[in-house]
Amino acid sequence: MSPIESDPDAWMMRGLPAQLAAKAHVAGDVRYEQACHTYATVGAPALVIAADDASDVRAAVRFAADRRVPLSIRSGGHGPSTNARGIVIDLGRLRGVEILDHSRRLVRIEAGARWGEVAQVLGPHALALSSGDYGDVGVGGLATGAGVGLLARLQGLTIDRVRAADVVLADGTLVRADDRQRADLLWAIRGAGGSFGAVTAFEFEAGSVGTVTWGSVTYRAPDLAGLLAGWATLVERSPREVTSFLYVSPGPGASAAQARATVVHASDDAAAGRATLSAFADLAPVSEQRSGLDPYATLLTASRAPHRAQAAGITAHTGLLDHVTDEAAAALAGLVNSHTASVLQLRSVGGAVNDLAPDATAYAHRQQNFSVVVASHGPRSELDAAWASGIVPHVRGSYLNLGTDRDDAALRRAYPPPTLARLQQLKRRYDPAGVFDHSLPIPRTVTADTRAA
Ligand SMILES: Cc1cc2nc3c(=O)[nH]c(=O)nc-3n(C[C@H](O)[C@H](O)[C@H](O)COP(=O)(O)OP(=O)(O)OC[C@H]3O[C@@H](n4cnc5c(N)ncnc54)[C@H](O)[C@@H]3O)c2cc1C
Repeated sequence: MSPIESDPDAWMMRGLPAQLAAKAHVAGDVRYEQACHTYATVGAPALVIAADDASDVRAAVRFAADRRVPLSIRSGGHGPSTNARGIVIDLGRLRGVEILDHSRRLVRIEAGARWGEVAQVLGPHALALSSGDYGDVGVGGLATGAGVGLLARLQGLTIDRVRAADVVLADGTLVRADDRQRADLLWAIRGAGGSFGAVTAFEFEAGSVGTVTWGSVTYRAPDLAGLLAGWATLVERSPREVTSFLYVSPGPGASAAQARATVVHASDDAAAGRATLSAFADLAPVSEQRSGLDPYATLLTASRAPHRAQAAGITAHTGLLDHVTDEAAAALAGLVNSHTASVLQLRSVGGAVNDLAPDATAYAHRQQNFSVVVASHGPRSELDAAWASGIVPHVRGSYLNLGTDRDDAALRRAYPPPTLARLQQLKRRYDPAGVFDHSLPIPRTVTADTRAA
C-alpha cells in the first residue's frame, strides 16, 4: 500500500512549510468548511490553505506542485475553484484596494477582494471599474476570465482595464507582468489567467464614473421573441453610456415568461437617463419598474456570505451573438417557453468591448454584441440537445466564465485557433507540468487546426 493510501492526511501534510502550519485546514476546521465548496460546486479537497499574503501563496504553490495533486486557486469562490482530494489555496484574505495614482486613475486590487468592496472604495473618488452584476464575485476569477459588467459598453471588459499583475508561477516565483516585462504573460492573464499562475494583485486603470441613472424594468412577455429582439436592437442603438442585462425565466405553467432588464446609463445627465429608461419601458407591458440616480457603487454590494454550493446541479451553456436576429430570438424564446431552460440571460458586450483587436488579449471576441447564457436545474440531456441544435448555430464564440462547460468543444469556442495556439505555446513556457490545469486544462499538443492558424 502506498503512503497516500495508508494515511492520506499524514501524507498530504508531510513537508508542509512551517509558515503554513497554522494556515492549513482539513475537514472539520471552520476555515476548511468555509472554503471547501464554491457557489456552484461541491468540493472535498484534502487541504485548504488560507494565505495571508503573497509569500504564503508562493509557499503553498510550491508545496502543491511538489505533491502533484489537483490545485485550485480560490479568490471569491463564485467559479469552479475547488476539487476532490487536492489543495485549495484560498486568497480571500488578500483583499486590499488602494488608489496608487489618482491622476492616472491607477488602482491596485488584491485578488481576494470582492467587486462590491472594490466599488465601495473607488466610489467616493468618482472612480469605477466595470465588473459584473453581482458584488460578491471575487476579483481574481473575474479579472482573469474577462469580466462583463454593467459599464461594459462604456469601459470594455474588466480585463481591458488590467495594466499589470503580480503572479505566482508554477515554480513558486512571484513575478510582475506588465507591458514592459512579461507582456506575453499579461496577455494570457487577460482571458485565460487561471491556467498560468496565481495572481495575487492587479493594477487597473479605472474609469471616471460618478452618479449613474439605473433602472430595473420587469416585463410580462407574452411575445418573448419580440421582446428579446427589440431589447437587443435598442441596446445596439443606444450610446455607449448605456449597458443592459436581460434576465428571463419561464412563467408558471403556461403563463407568459417573466423578463427583467437591468439598465445603467453611466452619466449624470438625468434627462438623458430618463429618456433611456423610458425607451426600455416601451418594449413590452411593464409589471414593475424601479429607478434612481445614484452613485455607481450603490449597485454592487458584497456580503461575503459563505458558499454552500447553493447553485450546484445547474447546467449553464454560454455563447456570444453578433446580433439577436429574429431567428435567434425565436430559438431562445422557444427554450424558455418550453421550460427547457429555467434561466436565460443576455448581457451587452458591444461598444468599448469591441475597440480592442482580437489578438490584444486571450479573450478574442471583439465583434459580438451579446453574451447569452441558458441554464437549467432540470434533465441535462434535454438542455444539451436543445442548446446544440437550436442555439449553437446562432452563436460565434463564448465566454467560459458564465457557463459550466469545460470540455474540448467549449474550450475551442472560447479560444479561436490563433489564440489557442499562443496559449499552448505560453503554457509550455510558464506551466509545463500543468500545475494550474485544474479549472481549464489547455491541451499541450498543437493540433492541425491550431497549427494551421
Ligand atoms: C452569481 C454570479 C454572478 C456572476 N455574474 C457575472 C457577470 O455579471 N459578469 C461576469 O463576467 N461574470 C459573472 N460571473 C462569473 C464569474 O466571472 C466567474 O464565476 C468567476 O470565476 C468568479 O470569480 P471568483 O474569484 O469569485 O471565483 P473563484 O471560484 O474563486 O475562481 C474561479 C476560477 O478562476 C481562477 N482564479 C481565481 N482566482 C484566481 C487568481 N487569483 N489567479 C489566477 N486565477 C484565479 C481559477 O481558475 C479558479 O478556479 C458570475 C458568477 C456568479 C456565480
